Amino acid sequence: MRKNIVAGNWKMNKNLAEGLELAKAVEQSLQNTKVNCEVIIGTPFIHLATVAQTIDTSVLKVSAQNCADKVSGAYTGEVSAAMVASTGASHVILGHSERRAYYHETYDILKEKVLLALENNLTPIFCIGEVKEEREANKQNEVVKAQLEGSVFNLSAEDFSKIVLAYEPVWAIGTGLTATPQQAQEIHAYIRSLIAEKYGNEIAENTTILYGGSCKPSNAKELFANPDVDGGLIGGAALKAEDFMGIVTAF
Ligand code: PEP
Repeated sequence: MRKNIVAGNWKMNKNLAEGLELAKAVEQSLQNTKVNCEVIIGTPFIHLATVAQTIDTSVLKVSAQNCADKVSGAYTGEVSAAMVASTGASHVILGHSERRAYYHETYDILKEKVLLALENNLTPIFCIGEVKEEREANKQNEVVKAQLEGSVFNLSAEDFSKIVLAYEPVWAIGTGLTATPQQAQEIHAYIRSLIAEKYGNEIAENTTILYGGSCKPSNAKELFANPDVDGGLIGGAALKAEDFMGIVTAF
């Protein structure tokens, strides 16, 4: 059976001391609470090693928010998948809409990043989702299909079964607008049907598909109650331990 997961995406927030404090607070709450999902925090690169070495990563896993599309070498400012893995991080968020929009990450670049993450035993949390104009034109299904075909449907069945997907409607990210539980269920079911078509029912049933976009303690329960919504990728509400734990305990 597929895993339920709640993953935080801190984006470019928190200095090292603040990040460590937040990571420890989440870890502590998890030690004291029975939870029904895997919990991950996606920190800035510079926090990864310190956080992963300080907390118990069997309780709270650590993720990067990006990795390079090259193995190593003269790529000033880049951080490779191997470097991320060497910190003790187990996951990497790839294809986030902010990276697609602001850093021009194309389907092909993301394809390379996913392959390198997998080669280094990192679990990609691969984000897909449509912008507002595409939703208004009822094009969300074709958008997510193209994103999957462009960057992850090249994977072998074995490799595909190692990734986590996150459906994040761009119009809901950081805007306070959330997909309704019906909208989320509808497109998650569609994404699962695409996986079934490509890789078969068993892999589709075992793929974790997270919802992301203004998820908070007050709406998480309703969103996670849908049969095809297996948890959340959380931005703003992951920056306070209490809010994040309010979402984690929605399961
Ligand atoms: C995100 O950026 O992945 C996200 C879901 O952000 P927020 O929860 O703030 O909408």
